[in-house]
Amino acid sequence: HGDFNQKIDYVFKVVLAGDSAVGKSQLLARFTRNEFSLDSKATIGVEFQTRTLAVDHKIIKAQIWDTAGQERYRAVTTAYYRGAMGAMLVYDLTKRQSFDHVARWLEEVRNHADKNIVVMLIGNKSDLSTLRAITTEDAREFAQRENLFFMETSALESTNVEPAFLTILMEIYRIAR
Ligand code: GDP
Ligand code: MG
Repeated sequence: HGDFNQKIDYVFKVVLAGDSAVGKSQLLARFTRNEFSLDSKATIGVEFQTRTLAVDHKIIKAQIWDTAGQERYRAVTTAYYRGAMGAMLVYDLTKRQSFDHVARWLEEVRNHADKNIVVMLIGNKSDLSTLRAITTEDAREFAQRENLFFMETSALESTNVEPAFLTILMEIYRIAR
């Protein structure tokens, strides 16, 4: 097993936030296990998943927290955000409402998390290009205005999932080291 005798240099907690059904659990499954399921119930109840990475001869354990179906406004508790060094705000780029709610999720994160938390905006389901409701430009503009990293992903096709998580983790590492 790869974890054998491994010394962990850093543990970074990253939380997923965003409306229900935008693909948070599938992004997590893709990044930590390289899996995808069309049945979203498969991962309900999972608190967090980890993946261990080597960077700069350091071993980083990424601890990625999932909302476990508690996305109703205000249902996600303070404990969820406690100690988080990164947050991924996910919307479904085929669902206008999920993008409109990103501002609320950002407010939640800023109210509960550490001041210098690294936040990344994720437009997921880029594979559904004919159903797109939010342009890349509109999302990028919002991200720039709010000082967020931004990427479009597809958990289904595995597009940009690895780059998105690595970008946020490397930025956390840059701040923490
Ligand atoms: P969550 O509620 O935010 O955790 O969303 P889930 O991860 O449970 O995904 C909700 C639904 O969207 C499920 O049916 C997934 O299979 C589907 N889904 C997730 N990511 C993608 C994606 O990148 N592309 C497509 N086409 N479907 C996706
Ligand atoms: Mg979920």
